[in-house]
Amino acid sequence: MSGDVILEAVNVVKHFGANGGWLSNKRPVQAVDGVSVQIRQGETFAIVGESGCGKSTLARVLMRLLEPTEGSVKFDGTDVSHAQGNDLKSLRGDMQFVFQDPFSSLNPRMSVGRLVGEPLEVHAPDLTPQERRTRVAALLRKVGLRAEHADHYPHEFSGGQRQRIGIARALAAEPRLIIGDEPVSALDVSVQAQVINLLADLRRDLGLTLVVIAHDLGVIRHMSDRVAVMYLGRFVEVGDAEDVLSRPRHPYTQALMAAIPMMDGTDREKAPELLGELPNPSDPPSGCRFHTRCPYARPLCQTESPALTGEAHQTACHFWEEIAGAPVPAPTRKSETAEARFALYRAATTGGTVIHNNNSPTAED
Ligand code: SF4
Repeated sequence: MSGDVILEAVNVVKHFGANGGWLSNKRPVQAVDGVSVQIRQGETFAIVGESGCGKSTLARVLMRLLEPTEGSVKFDGTDVSHAQGNDLKSLRGDMQFVFQDPFSSLNPRMSVGRLVGEPLEVHAPDLTPQERRTRVAALLRKVGLRAEHADHYPHEFSGGQRQRIGIARALAAEPRLIIGDEPVSALDVSVQAQVINLLADLRRDLGLTLVVIAHDLGVIRHMSDRVAVMYLGRFVEVGDAEDVLSRPRHPYTQALMAAIPMMDGTDREKAPELLGELPNPSDPPSGCRFHTRCPYARPLCQTESPALTGEAHQTACHFWEEIAGAPVPAPTRKSETAEARFALYRAATTGGTVIHNNNSPTAED
């Protein structure tokens, strides 16, 4: 592991129902399937993808909230997957989780002071009650709340304030890395920017490393150093956020970007929108898992899984270079059917050799 890498996952696999249990007579759900990643000290690393793509499962495996089916995870050289006793306790302090829903993740019967002070009982057991109260007050101020909020209860706060309480609780153990699982998606749009800015400030001031899980590329594009785009349990594109989001190579990333509304309300013109449903992760498509939804799919895509290749900007697509240089079809008109648009893309990029996708969009799309 190179010097600045704080968290490293190697070929992590997480299948549910693979080892017996109530799902044992069914095919295992391949939630994460062979993900390797190195997260650097002090960076904000975003993992994005549709709901059900496996990003939250991966986050829980990275933190050992779930055991991996295969593969390994190391935090600063310590094997997370096999840590026990004091090593595990230390890791639990070093890596903290911020949940999506700040209300359900906070015990409504506990005061804010107890909620934020609880981790101190485990990670700083020698503090006196007065020292603990002082520490809690400092944590609340750090996240933009007031010391007197310690005497109140979660239901007395807005969604944004509750997420600040969740972040203060995560900071109590003085972590080195925080994983936020959709940390702002339950909040009003007007509050999202405040919480994103808070996380960015804390990262800078405390030297934290942030891993942010999100389905919305608009949320992460201004706060991330690097981005991994995940599809059906695998990374399909990884690189510097500016590079990946400004010049997406993988058709899936292009489609996600196309789904972000333009500020002036017009359609984006350079990529087809994402159509169809995410396939069943118990029975993923052969070859490239995206081929059932990809407008550029060719016969090879059905049989051969593309590896994630490249240096700083990695892509898992057999034809990304051709796709990047392919002629851009005429701007989409609302009256065109999606089928007709896809035929244009296919003709432009495959010379007419196309796969007929069973879930091709209908005229109603
Ligand atoms: Fe996958 Fe083929 Fe589409 Fe590339 S062109 S994303 S390999 S289906």
